[in-house]
Amino acid sequence: MVMDGLVDAARRIVGELQLPWEKVGSVGVAVHDVVTAGGEWIPWQQAQTMPYNAARYLEAAFMRPVTIEDISRASAEAEHRYGSGRGLADFIYLFVGDSGIGSGIFINNNLMKSSSGVCGEIGHLVVEADGQLCQCGNYGCLETIALPHAVISQLQSVLLEDIYSHLNTQKQLTFADVCRAAQEGDKHAYIALRRQAVSIATALTYVINITGASSVLLGGELRHVGESYLADLGSDLRQNVMPALVPRVEVRHAELHGYAGAMGVAAQALDLAWDSGQFLA
Ligand SMILES: [Zn+2]
Repeated sequence: MVMDGLVDAARRIVGELQLPWEKVGSVGVAVHDVVTAGGEWIPWQQAQTMPYNAARYLEAAFMRPVTIEDISRASAEAEHRYGSGRGLADFIYLFVGDSGIGSGIFINNNLMKSSSGVCGEIGHLVVEADGQLCQCGNYGCLETIALPHAVISQLQSVLLEDIYSHLNTQKQLTFADVCRAAQEGDKHAYIALRRQAVSIATALTYVINITGASSVLLGGELRHVGESYLADLGSDLRQNVMPALVPRVEVRHAELHGYAGAMGVAAQALDLAWDSGQFLA
């Protein structure tokens, strides 16, 4: 079972670090899943049929407080404390992963969460009427256009008709390859990334107008995009957001990659350990 594997992995890591368990005040777990404001993790596939409180299970297994957080929100937490979100009271952290797009939103220095657990699901904002079928069951969601594999497959369909593009010589294109090619002047790569950025701008405009958070941090696979992508995305946003927000719009790279989610949830878990007096003994 996933939970037991998780418990074993945590025990193994603590063992490898030669850290006595009594010094572990709290455990943090960042997941690609539904996590409520109360810290309850409801595995996505079971959400409708078999609600299951994974946090309670893990607390019993670890015998200490457990903090669970959605990985996009955990990454936003890390950026706010240690990364390019430092000093920003309001910002949107946009995570574009291989299989999903999410966000973590800070408003007035508070990370937005909901009691249902669904919050910041920017990947499922509809940005194209009559678009392609999304994994959520809707049509034309941001994910259908802006996920890396969607960008690559759209680009490859164009490359089939252009035998002169040097991208045709690469067997397996990655999103990083596309970004590099665009920065080196490849027209097709540039157009594919512009299509992605325009769809992201459409979705972000809704979020910016609703929340008033006008700083955007790009994380996940978007770490590979160049400065011109950031500038173009910023221009798209300034054209679309409420006039009062136009001068405040800015787009930055996120700073922490790879372990940002782990860092963010570890910081939250540490807060919980202090609040619950774990270190007083
Ligand atoms: Zn969707």
